[in-house]
Amino acid sequence: MPTGIFFHYQQGKRLRDFPQALEKILEKDYVFLYDALYPSKPKSSFDLEPLPLGTLHKIHSPEMVDRVKATGNYEGALYSAAGTVAAATKIWSGEITNAFVFTGYGDHHAGSTFFGGGCYFNGAALAIHELREKYGVKSYAIIDTDAHHGNGTWELFEDNPAVLYICLCSGASRENNQNVNIHVAPRVTDCDYLTLAKEAFQKWVTEFQPEIIFWNWGYDGTIGEYGGIGLTPDAHLKLAMEIKKVAQQVCRGRLIVILCGGSRRDLALFLIPRIITILID
Ligand SMILES: [Zn+2]
Ligand SMILES: [Zn+2]
Repeated sequence: MPTGIFFHYQQGKRLRDFPQALEKILEKDYVFLYDALYPSKPKSSFDLEPLPLGTLHKIHSPEMVDRVKATGNYEGALYSAAGTVAAATKIWSGEITNAFVFTGYGDHHAGSTFFGGGCYFNGAALAIHELREKYGVKSYAIIDTDAHHGNGTWELFEDNPAVLYICLCSGASRENNQNVNIHVAPRVTDCDYLTLAKEAFQKWVTEFQPEIIFWNWGYDGTIGEYGGIGLTPDAHLKLAMEIKKVAQQVCRGRLIVILCGGSRRDLALFLIPRIITILID
C-alpha cells in the first residue's frame, strides 16, 4: 500500500521542521515524496506540478481567482491545491493508495466566489472535479475535523448528492443533500469527540460507500490552539486510525489527508510524522 507525501516549501513557522522531520519516514519502502519549490530537494523526489488556470476556473470564478492573485499568496495557494489534486489522480491511477498533503493554505473556507480564513482554493473540490472528468468516479466523501465550519466546501457541494460532506464543528446539527453538519460542544473530551466522530462515520460514510475519502484534518481544536475545544494531541492519532479503518472498509483504503487549521510548530512536528506513519503501516 504505497503512501504519497505532497510537499511544497512554505514560509512561516508551523512547517519549519519539514521536510527534514520526514527523513526516517522517507527511507521506508513504498513512500513517495512529490514536492515543489524549495531548495535541496531529496534525490528520490518527483516534481509536483502547479494546476492550470482552466482547472481552477471549473470551481472558482475567474474574478475570484484574480482576487486571490492580488493577495500575493497565489503561488502557495496554487501548490496547496495542486498537492490534493495530484494525490487524488495518483491514488486513482493506482500509483499510491493513500496520501498526506502539506498545505500552506487550507481549502474549506474557499467557495465558488469567495475565500477567507487562510483558505484560497478548494483543493478537495478541484480534485473531485478532476476525478469525475478524467476517471468517471461517482461518489466521494469529505470528512472535515478542523475546528471551524467549512463554509466553502458546504456551498460547493450543497446541491451535489455525489459528495458526502461531514463537518464536525460548533454549528448546529443539520443535513441537506449529503451535506451533514455535526454539532460539537465548545468543550469536549477526546472520548466525547471520538464517539461523535465514529458514530458519524458509521451512520454516513459506511452507508454512503464513497469510492475515495478526503479528510480535512486541522489540529486547531487542540488544547492551546486558536480554535481549542479541549482535544489532546492523541485524539488526532486515534481519529487517523479510525478514518484509515473506515477507508479500508469502504474504498480499499483510498484516503487523502489534507492539512488544514493549526498554528503550533511543536504540534505539527509531533502529529504529522505520526499520522503519516499510520497511513503507511
Ligand atoms: Zn479551523
Ligand atoms: Zn461545520
